[in-house]
Amino acid sequence: MEKIVFRHQEIETLPQPQLKELQRQKLQKAVEAALKTPFYKKRLNDAGIRDARDIQTEADFRKIPYTTKHDLREAFPYGMLAADKADVVRMHASSGTTGIPTVVYLTQADLDKAAELNARSCACTGSTKNDVFQNMMTYGLFTGGLMLHYGAERLGMMVIPSGSGNTKRQLQLMKDFRTTVVHATPSYLLHMYDVMKEEGFRPEDFALKKAYIGAEPHSEDIRKKIETLYGIDAYNSYGLSEMNGPGLAFECVCKNGMHLWEDSYIGEIIDPQTLEPLPDGERGELVLTILERNGMPILRYRTRDLTRFIPEPCPCGRTHRRLERMTGRSDDMLIINGVNVFPSQIEEVIMKMPEIGNNYLIRVQKQGSLDKLTVKVEVTASLFSDDSRDLEHIRRRIQSDLQAVVFIRPAVELHEPGALPVSQGKAVRVIDERKES
Ligand code: AMP
Ligand code: ZN
Repeated sequence: MEKIVFRHQEIETLPQPQLKELQRQKLQKAVEAALKTPFYKKRLNDAGIRDARDIQTEADFRKIPYTTKHDLREAFPYGMLAADKADVVRMHASSGTTGIPTVVYLTQADLDKAAELNARSCACTGSTKNDVFQNMMTYGLFTGGLMLHYGAERLGMMVIPSGSGNTKRQLQLMKDFRTTVVHATPSYLLHMYDVMKEEGFRPEDFALKKAYIGAEPHSEDIRKKIETLYGIDAYNSYGLSEMNGPGLAFECVCKNGMHLWEDSYIGEIIDPQTLEPLPDGERGELVLTILERNGMPILRYRTRDLTRFIPEPCPCGRTHRRLERMTGRSDDMLIINGVNVFPSQIEEVIMKMPEIGNNYLIRVQKQGSLDKLTVKVEVTASLFSDDSRDLEHIRRRIQSDLQAVVFIRPAVELHEPGALPVSQGKAVRVIDERKES
């Protein structure tokens, strides 16, 4: 195990009762900021909350209604903006979202805070200013790239902002600059290993020590596989754009659950059916409140991610509770090579095309280490009797229309009417064949 290094020991080891008190104080400010927005003013007033001082106890907190992704879309573009627009310095949006995206706004103070939490996260894995950090996550609207980038810089690491893709170049950069830490999706790291072998790189070409892996669900076996293949330590990082992305919950050197930074977030676990809070240690849906974001407060956000708090204290000495690896979602969102895809987005595209019948099937498989999305559709009978070039033309059009919406290029298969299975009862439209390991 690496040496335990704190970035801000007092805060990281603050006893739970004091952390709770800190949360209580910060929550008042968050509610105060939220009440400045049209969305929360109505939402909170409807729940009988008119003033931040109305929220004193845990019971008061639970009177705050949950916020959902749907709410964020309804409030688009500025219904949840709490700061003066002139003070906003950055916006981000959820990966893969088109149409009405879920957007967040940050002021300079918010950005500094997020960078600091990311620096803390890197430090808690033992990284220091002597490390060379290659960030293989997508830069852009997605928070995974820029947010950890800022944190790594703040810690003083030398950052290589390589972004995602272009695997041969990634490997060359890793070799030339003796990269010690990488940040990527677990599936990308598995893919990169294959390319590394194909291209004839040798283990001694690299100085890699650790990987930060996140943005998509993965099992303990996948982590171990990455660790064994590269001979490194892999740390799980969990984040979502609504909560500023990475720097929210990160594994420490004990590699057994991710510390949720409870001085900046309140985490709850609820039963996704009854919506009732569950006792500590039980598995359910994670609900998060961001405590310090002046640009855009979000209270009690239903993440849809399923996890639990690990009740035992962590041997590293940090008091912030650990979240267990995510085991799935309580909605139908698919994560394909790190990109969020809702089956409804695919359906919308398909249903707009007159040549396509009503039946379709979405299939997700592993192809090597990466995910492969196939969309099978039934086309009208007349098309099959027409020129086959028309079919190919339609197939390509569906493919590019889908790509424009889901941001990944799916394989598209055209079938004759009646060829796809029709299920009795509730239609099964999604077949996810990916295995966990
Ligand atoms: P985005 O808003 O695009 O950053 O996507 C956030 C979603 O990605 C989360 O709600 C999770 O479903 C998923 N996600 C992010 N990090 C992890 C992780 N370490 N393990 C499992 N799922 C993750
Ligand atoms: Zn720990």
